[in-house]
Amino acid sequence: MQAYQHILLATDFGEGAECIVRRAHDMAERHQARLTLLHVMDYLPIADAAYGPGVPFDAEQSQQLLENAHRRLTSMAKGLAIDESQCRVELGSPKEDIIRIAEELGVDLIVLGTHGKHGLQLLLGSTSSSVLHHTQCDVLAIRLKKAS
Ligand code: AMP
Repeated sequence: MQAYQHILLATDFGEGAECIVRRAHDMAERHQARLTLLHVMDYLPIADAAYGPGVPFDAEQSQQLLENAHRRLTSMAKGLAIDESQCRVELGSPKEDIIRIAEELGVDLIVLGTHGKHGLQLLLGSTSSSVLHHTQCDVLAIRLKKAS
């Protein structure tokens, strides 16, 4: 099997997130691949009508939230000696931006978590199934175990 060159790990900071980061990091080491950690902060379309849609109502607050997310991501990375330069936080839509960043970076593997939803939830599309169906590269979905 050909080694991966660049792995993108997408995290929502949810349950099991650290375990997934560790798995992605182990994989990157084994493949001697670059690793990028990504968190997408869901963009809430709260807009000031005077300036049209898409302009955050409170830019300062959005900036603060982005900084908090970046701090959280880098502290997660630090535990595994992953450099801050490998961490990215974006404001937008997780489903779209995971794919966009993967294309921008030219990654060949996206690692994410999945709750393994079935039926209607799967039809409606979780982040993992949406990424899987819209990206050209490989996707590794790590099943998150329910806390007992
Ligand atoms: P979900 O389908 O929403 O349960 O999410 C499945 C996986 O997609 C998560 O375990 C993460 O790996 C990834 N993901 C979901 N939301 C985000 C987000 N906001 N930023 C980055 N990755 C995310």
